[in-house]
Amino acid sequence: MAPRFNLDGSEIQPLKICMIGAGGFIGSHLCEKLMLETEHSVLAIDVYSDKIQHLLEAGKPWSKRIEFHKINIKHDSRLEGLIKLADLTINLAAICTPADYNTRPLDTIYSNFIDALPVVRYCSDNNKRLIHFSTCEVYGKTIGSFLPRDSPLLRDPAFYVLKEDESPCIFGPIEKQRWSYACAKQLIERLIYAEGAENDLQFTIVRPFNWIGPRMDFIPGVDGPSEGVPRVLACFSTNLLKGEPLKLVDGGKSQRTFIFIKDAIEAVLLMINPDRANGYIFNVGNPQNEVTVRELALLMTQIYCKVNGGSRPEIPTVDVSSKEFYGEGYDDSDKRIPDMTIIKRQLGWEPKTSLDDLLESTLTYQHKTYAHAVRQVMSRSHAA
Ligand code: NAD
Ligand code: UDP
Repeated sequence: MAPRFNLDGSEIQPLKICMIGAGGFIGSHLCEKLMLETEHSVLAIDVYSDKIQHLLEAGKPWSKRIEFHKINIKHDSRLEGLIKLADLTINLAAICTPADYNTRPLDTIYSNFIDALPVVRYCSDNNKRLIHFSTCEVYGKTIGSFLPRDSPLLRDPAFYVLKEDESPCIFGPIEKQRWSYACAKQLIERLIYAEGAENDLQFTIVRPFNWIGPRMDFIPGVDGPSEGVPRVLACFSTNLLKGEPLKLVDGGKSQRTFIFIKDAIEAVLLMINPDRANGYIFNVGNPQNEVTVRELALLMTQIYCKVNGGSRPEIPTVDVSSKEFYGEGYDDSDKRIPDMTIIKRQLGWEPKTSLDDLLESTLTYQHKTYAHAVRQVMSRSHAA
């Protein structure tokens, strides 16, 4: 492989990266990128490896550079040794599906705060750099969400654009357990920041804004539990694959910006260079790709018809209350537009892929991967 150079013109030296949560959606894409396009090595830690199995098969050109360790970081003494062996740790491990935040708040808080604590401590004690995955959800609700609906201020970006170093973190009351995840992530961010300030921990914090693409979550009843509720891309994909209406929670009025996983992974790769990323918190999202959840549902339906050659369904969506869909204690972020000033200045990075293009390539993948299996599951359940 030809030498690669960082933004400051220095040759990139191969690093050993301890990646925790490497078997998940983001981890699988990051491992793929590191194996195919860099000389870095990965100590891949997870309890699952299905999504990176294609990288772990023997005889690949990168086989010597990736090693899978089936470890649950909650209770495994091998973790510190692996962090010590590596130059850099990237921690992705978390419970991060909203359906869990209000129904399994203890698991959510333990996973996102308590289980991340030893990782931070081992990095700090052993002078190892840490890239920690937080979330855009730490911003919670926008300031604008508290204004009257007809307020002209709602059009002022100061009331909704989310800035790493200025925006407050606004969560709902404790009984709205949806915020257990955001609160745990906020506290671990504060701890990492404090380790940086008091003990010189070298860190970078990533706040992903709805990264989506192939291999995200699971299709219930096919490669995940039948009663499981994944994130919106997989929920809507499941509805489309089954030919049923897409469920809009509380009218689908919440707004999100979606970014293609491959664009986002480019940003993470740039963060591996410490000179540009140490001590920073980065929003990683695509402010151009904003839709309401209702608009997302209609766009996905339209694009899926193109992908599978079917006709537009008579009833594309159906409304469902959040209590019915997620249970007691659900609440929502109203709007998520990332400010891009810091990441653009530090890493020279910008997202490229439009919402239409990223949905078309993702739904093409979903159709190829799952259509047959979904048909089989449906015919089995009709026969029963
Ligand atoms: P994911 O669920 O696909 O991946 C997380 C991985 O961590 C899974 O493979 C899981 O098995 C592993 N893991 C969890 N607990 C573990 C443990 N105790 N020991 C070992 N492995 C464990 O989720 P993802 O979308 O890839 O997200 C990765 C990170 O990014 C998370 O920290 C999440 O909070 C953050 N994030 C992602 C998004 C997004 O848009 N995908 C948005 C906001 C934040
Ligand atoms: N949502 C929906 N129908 C679904 C799944 C999710 O209307 O089948 C909504 C959910 O209420 C939220 C948005 O879609 O407003 C995005 O949900 P996701 O699970 O992707 O996570 P979030 O962006 O809230 O972290």
